[in-house]
Amino acid sequence: MKPILLKAGRVIDPACGIDDVFDVLIRDGEIEAVETFRKTPEGAVVIDVAGCWVVPGLIDPHVHLRDPGFPEKETIPSGLRAAAAGGFTAVAAMANTSPVNDTREITSYMIERAKETRATRLVPVSAVTRGLRGIEPVDFAAMIEAGARMFSDDGIPIDDPVILSRALEEISRLGFATSLHEEDRALSRDAALNAGEVSKRLGVSGMPASAESERVRRDLALAIGSGAAVHIAHASTAETFDLIRAARRHGARVTCEVAPHHFALDESAALTWGPNAKMNPPLRNRDDVEAVNEAIRDSTADMIASDHAPHDPKSKQMESLAGYFGPGHEPPRLDHELADTFAHAANGIVGLETSVGIALELVHRSLIQPARFVELMSLNPAALLRLEAGMLAIGAAADVTVIDPNLDWIVEPQKFLSKSRNTPFAGRRLKGKAILTLVGGQIVYDGRKG
Ligand SMILES: [Zn+2]
Repeated sequence: MKPILLKAGRVIDPACGIDDVFDVLIRDGEIEAVETFRKTPEGAVVIDVAGCWVVPGLIDPHVHLRDPGFPEKETIPSGLRAAAAGGFTAVAAMANTSPVNDTREITSYMIERAKETRATRLVPVSAVTRGLRGIEPVDFAAMIEAGARMFSDDGIPIDDPVILSRALEEISRLGFATSLHEEDRALSRDAALNAGEVSKRLGVSGMPASAESERVRRDLALAIGSGAAVHIAHASTAETFDLIRAARRHGARVTCEVAPHHFALDESAALTWGPNAKMNPPLRNRDDVEAVNEAIRDSTADMIASDHAPHDPKSKQMESLAGYFGPGHEPPRLDHELADTFAHAANGIVGLETSVGIALELVHRSLIQPARFVELMSLNPAALLRLEAGMLAIGAAADVTVIDPNLDWIVEPQKFLSKSRNTPFAGRRLKGKAILTLVGGQIVYDGRKG
């Protein structure tokens, strides 16, 4: 493999304190140098990246690859190719597959399948409890030995506080993090959307913001009491961030992630996109969206996670519902039967191929600086997952993302490499995109041809 010289890009690496124009030399899969070369090193392939950002490979700490179990939605190969196209060099794959990733065999299968794909790295997330049933813990040490780097029953909250606190302490003692899907199901009741104007207008069931914050409150109390580390997945309400700020003052070891859809869209997106704007936690009202943006600005939010959740049209109930929604017209109030169908549409949207473009809106709006973008999308997720990544250190594996921050493009779901198309961002004009993704010095995505 020939050495690669990424020529004259803006290298942004907050961990190394770099934000300047340099060349990056990659040899034998590693970063060999970050400097300015007067002449091209012997045999190197030069890639001119002037005007682009060269950043440590982006890491998504929360994706669903649906493999094993749901090949009609996504597979490890399709998901990892979508990740590479989105600029990610590593993604943490959640455990709610079928079978659930609660055994070493499933973890090994995921790692093997990812290796064969030769795209983005897959970081396995183990279930906390067997079958995600919230009762019996998995063998944490065995799962770590098999390659798991985080624990989560994501998709389902862990209702029993005794089982959760024991698990948190044990996982923390082993040096790993637990990612929590925060939902009080007595309050959320499988509702279709956020409780508010939009759910009323559509005539569908609504879940209150308190369904999230009530559970966050409990789990932060557990974290303060035990000293165990907790990670709050897809934080989406104003109160959640207030609770996190307060818990940190009380010494809690808490990190949290936010999803692009929660800072870029409010609940009104459901009026246009119907089930393709339905996820859990749901899109919130404007005050909550404002609070997510403020949490990004003031560093309450540590990282951005797509919560990439591919679904086929049938799971989204599109056959019965698609006709009522779409850009440019107001949907009717749904009758009882249709409202029920809406509530049964699967939760989640795809996000791997839009995450960078949406996150760059934060930079273009001057809410954050480019270095903070890199912290949110690489450095901090690397720390959460205990990966030796998130920086362009000399001698480190060459996981690198090249971003053209000014590339204008329009989201066209039919062009996604993901197997699924369920997104409320279709047709959105974005500025900025990953144009080159390298994993271990190998180009796994090259979007330079447009
Ligand atoms: Zn979740």
